[in-house]
Amino acid sequence: AGIRDALDRIREDFPAREDLKILLSLCDPDEMGYLHATACIVRNTYCQERIALRALVEISSVCKNSCRYCGLNRYNREASRYTMRDDEVMQSVRLAAKQGFRTVVLQSGENGCSSQAIAQLISQIKQEFPVAVTLSLGERPWEDYLAWKQAGADRYLLRIESTDDELYRSLHTDRALSSRMECLEQLETLGYQVGSGIMVGLPGQSISTIARDIQFFAEKQFAMIGIGPFIPHPQTPLAKAKRGDLNLTLNTIALTRIVTKYPWMPATTALGSLQRDYRKEGLQAGANVIMPNFTPQCYKNQYVIYPNKQSKTENKKSLEQLARRVGLSIDYGRCDSLLPGWA
Ligand code: SAM
Repeated sequence: AGIRDALDRIREDFPAREDLKILLSLCDPDEMGYLHATACIVRNTYCQERIALRALVEISSVCKNSCRYCGLNRYNREASRYTMRDDEVMQSVRLAAKQGFRTVVLQSGENGCSSQAIAQLISQIKQEFPVAVTLSLGERPWEDYLAWKQAGADRYLLRIESTDDELYRSLHTDRALSSRMECLEQLETLGYQVGSGIMVGLPGQSISTIARDIQFFAEKQFAMIGIGPFIPHPQTPLAKAKRGDLNLTLNTIALTRIVTKYPWMPATTALGSLQRDYRKEGLQAGANVIMPNFTPQCYKNQYVIYPNKQSKTENKKSLEQLARRVGLSIDYGRCDSLLPGWA
């Protein structure tokens, strides 16, 4: 009864931290099942019974940052660094468009590509293919975000990683939470469909921190929210840390869905990269996006954020099979923001 009451309260009002903490901690299979099923009802009501597809292209592994959790951080001397040529990116986008994808996500480390080169690439993609362009290129100056929007970019993903100031500082030696927040606000002002998200299981993170992150999502209303487990990378300062807990990650996805209702939420690549592929469980906890990897094979193995990253090529048949297994169908449209008021 306590769990049902807490669930009823967070569905009706702004979620209280104590209720979120109780629900995040669930580990009994029946109780978790109830929480995840509730999240699926919310998803199906506000987003329909469908999965959106996004084609991921990892355009550069060059990075000037030193995020302590990430294999691409600049102090990792063993990391391979590459930047894809424009014609290689166009080839990946062509392949995705030909297979019916209507969104491409260009992702990279930070500062591997000049602002102008990215703007040119965006215009070229928009001229040649009927796809929405999502960028995931990190923190950049306002001028870059503006130039890319003018070139035709539609959406931007920038995870907040954690809304806890102290935790954020302990993970990023050269950046502050405030600059991340500022970037998110700039992107919103420029008219991007904005996505954010967190990692679950970061060293130093507690249930209470995650509850606060979920409250942040409820306050902000992002068009997209990505939540995945932290996976330690052997060539980072967090090599010996424990990986994020699967159940806690799934509960975080479910609660975020229940309190935010509308976002496109991926069953993340990190969820697909644990002992086995848990993206199906992510969809059963309220997620509704799959992001197959379209990075050319020769670069895929060099974009190592964390080990054993799930990056096998997936075809239409296997994606449709996955959708069917969770009672959803694939929407081959652009799948733009579902937030009320988004035109
Ligand atoms: N540089 C861009 C940025 O920071 O937004 C985009 C690339 S970054 C590698 C993409 C995301 O990978 C980050 O937002 C972070 O949440 C996730 N990530 C990095 N290291 C990770 C790890 N060890 N385990 C799980 N996710 C990780």
